[in-house]
Amino acid sequence: MRCIASWGKLAILLLAVSGAAFAETPAQLQTADTTLRFTADANAPRLLTLQTAGRPAWTNRAPETLIDHVKVDGKSVPVKWEFNPQASQTSAHKISYVYESSAPHLRLTWEWEARAGYGPIEHKIRIENLGSQELWAPLQDSFRFDWQIDPQQPLEHIYIEKGAGTPSSEGTHRAVLQSGDKWEGTSSTYGHPGPYEPREIIPWQLVQTQGAQDGWYVGIEFSGRTHLTIEREKDSLQGEVGLNPNPAPFYTRLVANGSFETPTIFVGAFTSGADAAGNILRRWGRNVLTNPETWKNPNYPTATNNSWGSGMEINEELALHMIRDSAELGLEMFHIDAGWFRGVGDWYPHPQKFPHGLAPIAEEAHKQGLKFGLWVDWTQAAFGTDPGALNARDPKVKNWMVTDLPADWEPEPFKGQTIDLGDPAAKAWAQNETNRLVTDYHLDMLEHDGYLVAQGCIRDDHPHAAPDPFNMCVHKDWGSYWVLSSNSTDVSYHAVRAYYDIHSNLRKRHPGLMLEVCNDGGRMVDFGSAAHGDYFSITDTYDPLSNRRAFYDTSHVLPAAMLESYVEKWPVPKIENFRYMLRSGMMGWLTIMQNTNAWDHQQHDVAKAEFQLYKSTLRPFIRDADLYHISPRPDGIHWDAIQYFDPKQDKGVVYAFRGTTETERSHTFVLQGLRPEATYRLRFHDGSSPDRTVRGRELLQKGLTLNLALPLSSEIVFLDPVAR
Ligand SMILES: [Zn+2]
Repeated sequence: MRCIASWGKLAILLLAVSGAAFAETPAQLQTADTTLRFTADANAPRLLTLQTAGRPAWTNRAPETLIDHVKVDGKSVPVKWEFNPQASQTSAHKISYVYESSAPHLRLTWEWEARAGYGPIEHKIRIENLGSQELWAPLQDSFRFDWQIDPQQPLEHIYIEKGAGTPSSEGTHRAVLQSGDKWEGTSSTYGHPGPYEPREIIPWQLVQTQGAQDGWYVGIEFSGRTHLTIEREKDSLQGEVGLNPNPAPFYTRLVANGSFETPTIFVGAFTSGADAAGNILRRWGRNVLTNPETWKNPNYPTATNNSWGSGMEINEELALHMIRDSAELGLEMFHIDAGWFRGVGDWYPHPQKFPHGLAPIAEEAHKQGLKFGLWVDWTQAAFGTDPGALNARDPKVKNWMVTDLPADWEPEPFKGQTIDLGDPAAKAWAQNETNRLVTDYHLDMLEHDGYLVAQGCIRDDHPHAAPDPFNMCVHKDWGSYWVLSSNSTDVSYHAVRAYYDIHSNLRKRHPGLMLEVCNDGGRMVDFGSAAHGDYFSITDTYDPLSNRRAFYDTSHVLPAAMLESYVEKWPVPKIENFRYMLRSGMMGWLTIMQNTNAWDHQQHDVAKAEFQLYKSTLRPFIRDADLYHISPRPDGIHWDAIQYFDPKQDKGVVYAFRGTTETERSHTFVLQGLRPEATYRLRFHDGSSPDRTVRGRELLQKGLTLNLALPLSSEIVFLDPVAR
């Protein structure tokens, strides 16, 4: 396999050091969409090519870059890796190449696995310390690539922002990649959309050829501090994927007989553009990453009523009233948001607000046929002194917190100071506490909010690396102190693993329990959370435009059922505006977050009908159908639309929205995914146009024309096959 014309610098160095290289017959893993070929060189493994059937392969020019040293007692010791063919394995679904170092005694397993017959292939690297001494390992990327490209080939790069805070005006980024272009996207446990730093992305990127629109994508299944880069220069397209190396230098502890695993990544190939890639990836994500127990519930995604419409005022009387109204409206879960507890860190019902506790509230919800969910920010410490409270002044808890608190610190009404779950004692407390919450309050759903999973910590007696005291920044944001130092990525690595364990433990003990990842709205949207939670709040701003924008963005890569929109109070002078408001949150998981008792009779009746439509007709599409972004991203002014189409049933639905435009009364959307030769009946749910039949070809070429008389209104159009 030495025939590839151009070598990376490292490869030349390795060859020079090792002399004749070991080569074995390339191995291959294949799904319906993605074919990868690999080889094991003497000192490093290599991904050779990435390909989808019928299209040219992407050829990788460099072997994997493996760590070249570890630290022992503060001193750097070089590591020389040698391939161990006896320990390596290849099968139809998995390859693992094993490399070993004799001194220091280490084993590295380079693993790729196809967990489904379609979609991407996953990859991780495990480094084991086989010696009896503690070591410190530098950063091992999950994946590096250096594709050989035609310098003239026009390429497009696509990446997606998190909806954190408020979705920005762009969200879904599509840019032409030109020679000299360099890009980095980052993700962490908490996306800070600041004016001075770039917004966080969902850790994923896609590259496709312009015109043919075939290409590849790579994503990270981890919620800690990660990054992806890409750089195009002449005939090279290179980049790295994995833990974020900054602030440098990253080191992670390898205890004797311990191991370090890179975040799992996935790589997939596709043809026919980003929506085609998304339709494969969403299905793969659902079947490979998410919890199968959750999907067994036919009422997932679950139409929910959330108490935050009344803010912190929630109490027993209001809760019982909301339960009655939720049942009357046909909603399926009653969700108590912040405000129910004694205090931050003191997750027991407030005795004045809930004199009988929460269990009777849960029982009433269950009696009315509703599920019961609860908001908790379960890693926050404050000043509660009742038994069971996480008290920041308790010396034990003090050492769990990511930093010391100044004497004048006060918790906010529902935010305190984050503890580091990466510390085993803190993790054990959180594991018990979350289990107690679910058991004692009879929960069907547990939501976590706030800055839950640490990324940066001042402690030097936690399992993560110590911070660099000369290069450390501690700042306060929204009630909590944050630490940024060279250990931040390692802190997040340990804390995220603990967080995943806690969620896995809850799932094991409480089958059917749902877990909502809120994290102050849309700040922890990634493929690792998708594997350890059941749905995401996708933005912290809940007006119709923000909801549609956040859905438009996230639905490129994650199953639509997981994508939660909170529908908050919004000016609705006309009933058409009311429908528009509701439907802007009805494309994925629907949560109502307003006082439904304040709705008038007409609004009540319309909402009830919309929820019925959601449950009976829209939800099956949201769960199972392909999804197409058939308009530009919503801007609130012009028209926008999302199309679902289920090819198995040959059925679909279009959600169409008219923005504030006063002049554009009609708009045409070109549809996708239909059979051109088939005939479809178009059913306009609100009757904005008469129902009619039309050939698939016409909808795919000329499009579907909608007429809506009013700005800020909507229509839902169903497409059903006509038997011929
Ligand atoms: Zn720590």
